[in-house]
Amino acid sequence: MPDRKSVIVTGSTSGIGRAIAWEMARAGHNVMLNGLGDQSEVEALRQEMQDKTGVSVAYCSADMSNPHQIETLADVTRRAFGQIDVVVNNAGIQTVSPIEDFPVERYDQIIAVDMSSAWHLIRLTMAEMKARQWGRYINIASAHGLVASPFKSAYVMAKHAVIGLTKTVALEGAEHGITANAICPGYVLTPLVEKQIPETARARQMTEEQVVRDVLLAAQPTKQFVEASHIGMLAVFLCSDSAAQITGTAIPVDGGWTAH
Ligand code: NAD
Repeated sequence: MPDRKSVIVTGSTSGIGRAIAWEMARAGHNVMLNGLGDQSEVEALRQEMQDKTGVSVAYCSADMSNPHQIETLADVTRRAFGQIDVVVNNAGIQTVSPIEDFPVERYDQIIAVDMSSAWHLIRLTMAEMKARQWGRYINIASAHGLVASPFKSAYVMAKHAVIGLTKTVALEGAEHGITANAICPGYVLTPLVEKQIPETARARQMTEEQVVRDVLLAAQPTKQFVEASHIGMLAVFLCSDSAAQITGTAIPVDGGWTAH
């Protein structure tokens, strides 16, 4: 395999995606950043990543809920780096609400961003990976792709579906040097989780401190949040030749949560 890969990390302006992008850049791969956010902050991140690692780092603001913009993301990456070798489907959003009160527009948005965007980006990049007989898909699912929690119906549904997609793509890529794996993080203290603390407190009628102790970290036997950088380093490993036979898996990084 060529040493320097061309990697798209969706939703990499924040949290886990940003940590994955950093680890990919440190490993020597060119990175296409994507995600929402203040454009001057995103540009500062892009420049810093490029300066500190010496790889090429570019940015595309595609809205991952829009299939046309997902196509633009693939096109912009090919123009920037010549090809696409690795796709990390990471962009995600969350809403915590009892199903009977769940806002329908948030349901549609979660399904589009957390689930359908991965299907579209794989659909748009599989042919070129097959042609080169090498590729890596890494889908950031969740422990909620393996088990459920109340009040997260759309998210749990989308994340379970991402694992099904991962298995299918693994089978379709198996004889073409393409692997597809899902990483299933437990709780990582990112803006996505920080935002859920007050929502969960309202849904469960608890204080925010109780939510952290009795809901979030209660699920994780280690009683510690997962480090975003650890997810990034696992993603880098999945791109290596040593991981060539790891495919179709859903790998928990959850402090033992799904061992219950
Ligand atoms: P985050 O909110 O810190 O980051 C989410 C990223 O997705 C941001 O860059 C945001 O701009 C981007 N994004 C959101 N909507 C988008 C859209 N329409 N188009 C393009 N980009 C969009 O969240 P995070 O915690 O880093 O989550 C990243 C992924 O990890 C998500 O798929 C999430 O479900 C998953 N995950 C997170 C945790 C956790 O505890 N934080 C646990 C398991 C799985």
